[in-house]
Amino acid sequence: MQCFQGKSVYKGIVLGPVVVLKKNDYQVKRTRTEDPEAEIGRVEKAIEESKAQLQKLYDKALKEVGEASAAIFEVHQMMLEDDDYLEAIQNMIRTESINAEYAVAVTGDNFSEMFASMDDDYMKARAADIKDISERVVRNLSGQGDIDLSSIDPSVIVADDLTPSETVQMDKEKILAFVTVHGSTNSHTAILARMMNIPALIGVPMDLEQLENGMTAVVDGFKGEVIFDPDEETREATLKRMHEEEEKLKLLQELKGEENVTLDGHKINIYANIGSVGDIGYVLENDAGGIGLFRSEFLYLGRDDFPTEEEQFQAYRQAVQMMAGKKVIIRTLDIGADKQVDYFNLGKEDNPALGYRAIRICLKQPDIFKTQLRALLRAAVYGNLSIMYPMITSVEEVQQIYAIVDEVEKELQEQEIQYRIPEQGIMIETPASVMISDRLAEVVDFFSIGTNDLTQYTLAIDRQNEKLDDFYNPHHEAILRMIKMVTDNAHAHGKWAGICGELGADTELTEEFVRMGLDELSVAPSMILKLRKIVREMKVEE
Ligand code: PEP
Ligand code: MG
Repeated sequence: MQCFQGKSVYKGIVLGPVVVLKKNDYQVKRTRTEDPEAEIGRVEKAIEESKAQLQKLYDKALKEVGEASAAIFEVHQMMLEDDDYLEAIQNMIRTESINAEYAVAVTGDNFSEMFASMDDDYMKARAADIKDISERVVRNLSGQGDIDLSSIDPSVIVADDLTPSETVQMDKEKILAFVTVHGSTNSHTAILARMMNIPALIGVPMDLEQLENGMTAVVDGFKGEVIFDPDEETREATLKRMHEEEEKLKLLQELKGEENVTLDGHKINIYANIGSVGDIGYVLENDAGGIGLFRSEFLYLGRDDFPTEEEQFQAYRQAVQMMAGKKVIIRTLDIGADKQVDYFNLGKEDNPALGYRAIRICLKQPDIFKTQLRALLRAAVYGNLSIMYPMITSVEEVQQIYAIVDEVEKELQEQEIQYRIPEQGIMIETPASVMISDRLAEVVDFFSIGTNDLTQYTLAIDRQNEKLDDFYNPHHEAILRMIKMVTDNAHAHGKWAGICGELGADTELTEEFVRMGLDELSVAPSMILKLRKIVREMKVEE
């Protein structure tokens, strides 16, 4: 039995088999070989293995997300058959008498640099693909293989750290819990865990080398503890606690269909935050009144090229149709900072959180923005869709956005394509937007307070920096006063205000938020009924 403490980002308890994702820890070393032909034989075998894995991924993607998204795995298979690439690897092994891993890694880097320096945008984008396939071959050469999360049993995912694009590619049905060595409580992995209602621990000082796939683990999000290879007594106690938790959840189910109304008749909307259409199942299951934050950037993550207008239109239309008349607030692209996408070629920045991100990219690269706006305006015809713009700091930005929306509208009119201009609101997640929220309230339809970024920018604390988790205090009086100020300014102009940051789900503050007069709280689907219970048991006038 090995026991470790970490920081819990979502409470819950599970027992299940472990899948260890060891990917960042493999260092490719250069070694000399006496038998270059044997090394070339190893490369050929690893390439065959890689092609078989890619074929499986292609078949799975084709079934689950369609031809357009699956095509990339076909392209990767073709790249692995490219003569120039294969000859470069073989030459290097023969002329320098070096090991296969090193030759593949270096050839991958060289080809990737060559593609990155080309003028053609399509060829430029292939740089990431070459790197990807080379890493796959190296993994196969080193015996790490491919962890195919589609063929495992539901498991506890143990990793060094997980990026948003990695988590977005995972089959959520197969994840019982996340346990990572790094990561911060405000990272998107944490947000995903809350969405999926599964326990997650970060900052766990475990050695991945000591862990093996298939071993059993207990993840206890209440105690912030993970136990590998638990003894019989621990297993039994865990199963008992899992049963108790299930019973509590069952009791909450009785609140489905009930209103979010206080004992003295005050109502509040409780909506859900989602990252993709696939999450709407959780929204419906938990009886959310609507979707208060659809993080549309997740459509852009985990792929090699921009999603087309058509792909986006289908996703947004499906969301509003599935929500059948309930409000669906779609936030426009919020890429940058922790959400990096290779094909945006954003470049390295010293301060990415204060950098080229979100609405700034959309205003500087209106073509990207317009594609998304066209998809949104078209999908708005099919249901109760609202658009929300992130990272706003000024009235001028809102006016620039409206000018682009006008252009898109004209284009759609000229092309005789059906559209609707929906409700348009902004996220309040910068101190600047709080301070001018009276002026912003004049020009937008609603405010949704993004407390994750608002806390980061107000307290000058990088939300991704795990060393600062103890200082990151969203209960800080400055934040609470800002929320009150924004709500009052919205109401003074007849607009509504909500919270869609993680603080909205903080049950210690639910009563206070209702008393402040917030109109909406948008939270992880797993929190909806818990908040409803608090609202229904409180009085505003106490
Ligand atoms: C926020 O900043 O509070 C927010 C909801 O947006 P994100 O977490 O996606 O940055
Ligand atoms: Mg934000």
